[in-house]
Amino acid sequence: MTHRMIETDVCVAGGGPAGLFVGLLLAKAGVRVTVLESHDNFDREYRGEVLQPRFLQLLQQLNLRDYIESFPGAKVRQGTLFYKNKRMGSFSFEDVSGAFPYALWMPQPVLLQALYDKARTFPSFEMLFHAPVKQLLHEGDRIAGVVAETADGPLEVRARLTVGADGRFSAVRKLGGFEIEYEHYAGDLVWFTVPKPADWGEELRMLITDGHGYIVLPKYPNLLQVGIAVPAAEWKEIKAHGIEPLRQELLAAHPAFRDFAESLTDFKPFVLLQAKDFYVREWAKNGCLLVGDAAHCASPAGAVGVSLSVTTAVVAADVIYDALRDRDCSGGRLAAVQKCRDREIRSIHSMQDRAAKLMFSSSPFIRTWAPMFISFAAKTKLIRFVQRRLLVLPEPLAIHERFMF
Ligand SMILES: Cc1cc2nc3c(=O)[nH]c(=O)nc-3n(C[C@H](O)[C@H](O)[C@H](O)COP(=O)(O)OP(=O)(O)OC[C@H]3O[C@@H](n4cnc5c(N)ncnc54)[C@H](O)[C@@H]3O)c2cc1C
Repeated sequence: MTHRMIETDVCVAGGGPAGLFVGLLLAKAGVRVTVLESHDNFDREYRGEVLQPRFLQLLQQLNLRDYIESFPGAKVRQGTLFYKNKRMGSFSFEDVSGAFPYALWMPQPVLLQALYDKARTFPSFEMLFHAPVKQLLHEGDRIAGVVAETADGPLEVRARLTVGADGRFSAVRKLGGFEIEYEHYAGDLVWFTVPKPADWGEELRMLITDGHGYIVLPKYPNLLQVGIAVPAAEWKEIKAHGIEPLRQELLAAHPAFRDFAESLTDFKPFVLLQAKDFYVREWAKNGCLLVGDAAHCASPAGAVGVSLSVTTAVVAADVIYDALRDRDCSGGRLAAVQKCRDREIRSIHSMQDRAAKLMFSSSPFIRTWAPMFISFAAKTKLIRFVQRRLLVLPEPLAIHERFMF
């Protein structure tokens, strides 16, 4: 079959945070970019909505902070740990990062729309929705673009460089034969949403109960997004017992869950997310680069997935710009992105793995002692040290002024 065909400099598969940042920055620098997004729009449930201080630092450097913060969102200023409804300790973002004393709580559709609106002010930016990438094009030993499925049939996008920013289940990664170096799976976060009680405030909470651990996050504008930390493979067992035992657990866990628990008739209101991290051995091949979750997916511990993905995207924009200018989009040249990001990603994954072992453990010993340990650590400098490494950029990123707004 003959395909419709377009030509561009950079074809980005995936219009999530990483793909939109690559597209936005390159378009700002005058590069022709085509972003292909499989969904029809930006509506996404249960996605990364807490944007940590390290993300705000990046925005500040790019002069995008005021623009992004002008959209609807909330400022989360502290986090608190409860053990069986007893307050065990808390931390404030101000102590962790004085200049950026909050995390931004912004629905992902709002963030993505804001980035898209900014990007499409540049004539060299183009984004197609409802265009999932299905195939890679090859020319000799290099990847030369993609074939996407669209409402009008297959579309061939020929590009000097293809960027796989299509998330944790990346099609580009699979089609391109990229190899996973390591993967960790600690358990599942099972999400549900309830109305936010009037006296809740804008804080993150961790609840440790006789049943499971819970992460409770304010969801803009007036909801709570709740994740139950379920050890690996236990969700199947929970479902086999029917809804009643879980209803009883939720009723005991927190009064804010009561109406939701009472209304439950089955498991449909729950959304399961595997708490996995993985790392791709080599992110670049000739003509192709993986960024964001496609290259280095983080576990939910610490809610830093968007920040890490976007940092890699900013580094990638710089490397891609130079590679295009020098007409060298070889895997060796593009490997500079991974070289720059490798150390930090591995170090954060290793911190997250340790946290996940506490969060998802089914061992009664760990479940009893974890809150005491966290409470003790919160009273010392230890927790602040860990939080700083996780939530704050260690140093400003080297960003060329062509990418600044
Ligand atoms: C339930 C949940 C809660 C989370 N909470 C947080 C949080 O609070 N804070 C945080 O920082 N991170 C959080 N994360 C992680 C965060 O969402 C991700 O790390 C981040 O979105 C990764 O950005 P990305 O652009 O690399 O990938 P994604 O956001 O996954 O974007 C990939 C894009 O590619 C598109 N796509 C997929 N396949 C194709 C294809 N074949 N062709 C074209 N397009 C395609 C997808 O539709 C999507 O738009 C959470 C994740 C989940 C699942």
